[in-house]
Amino acid sequence: MADDLGVTRRGMIGSGTAALTLAGASGPAWSAAEMQGTQVPGYYRFMLGEYEITILSDGSYTLPTDLIAQNQPRDVVKRYLEANFLDPEFRTSHVNIPLINTGEELILVDVGGGGNFLDGAGKLIENMQAAGYAPEDIDKVVITHAHPDHLWGLIDDFDDPLYPDAQFFISKPEWEFWSGDRAVETLPEMFQSFAAGASRRLPMIADTVTLTAEGDEIASGITVLDTPGHTPGHGSVMVKEGGETLIITADTTTHPYVSFQHPGWWPGTDLDPKIAETSRRKVLDLAATGRSMILAYHLSFPGLGHVARQGSAYRFVPALWRWQL
Ligand SMILES: [Zn+2]
Repeated sequence: MADDLGVTRRGMIGSGTAALTLAGASGPAWSAAEMQGTQVPGYYRFMLGEYEITILSDGSYTLPTDLIAQNQPRDVVKRYLEANFLDPEFRTSHVNIPLINTGEELILVDVGGGGNFLDGAGKLIENMQAAGYAPEDIDKVVITHAHPDHLWGLIDDFDDPLYPDAQFFISKPEWEFWSGDRAVETLPEMFQSFAAGASRRLPMIADTVTLTAEGDEIASGITVLDTPGHTPGHGSVMVKEGGETLIITADTTTHPYVSFQHPGWWPGTDLDPKIAETSRRKVLDLAATGRSMILAYHLSFPGLGHVARQGSAYRFVPALWRWQL
């Protein structure tokens, strides 16, 4: 009986006729509402001093958890995930992209995955528009690194550049790695498409790009911080305004529990995991010591919070009190 009902209910989804027939034949009238499968527009605003920061969602996608910690036994990782109420096999990775309004300029940090990366990504533009902006409004774009989920949204579905009036910034080593042959030569097979995607897009900004070094200023109070390892020239961004500091950690921290409680676990997406661990520890220490906020791309939206010390490691403390509903 239960099986029969289960089958019938599944069959009714999206089928008004079946619902009416069943209701008429066997008692109480009820009809199945369609599953919507969507969320409200994904953006979250807060003030950092006089700067208004809007975190725009580029969507989310599912990744296998065997990418979480290459240097740990698989059963250790699985047990850890289960203890934290997470699926041991797959994880949902959100993509949280900050747009900083300094009052004078609009500065976007990374451009999301666009329409050619993974199902579920590429929602940046619709969320940007829902938040009141268009790509043409953007004055500056900082690229933290040239992985697809941070770079491929540079172009639209017709391969035309999406940010015609923007000045671009990327670290010199990152630009050189992806612009030359090194990416193709050194990336493992599963990441070769990353090299192809970057080499298609980076030439489009060659005329307007500024290659940065540690400490270079993007705008007043906004500077770049070298955090290599995830990619050779991976960078983070520091925003200091009104006595507060926000560190946009980029992909030094990619998991809400693992990156903080186990900074020595090496994600499979880090190209040089040892150097990446050093960068991760540097960012975590900086944020914990300075009581800074952090914004992390792949934590649960909006990925905004603090870093508290816990034993010899850390924990992520979400900061959701920054804006009234
Ligand atoms: Zn990423």
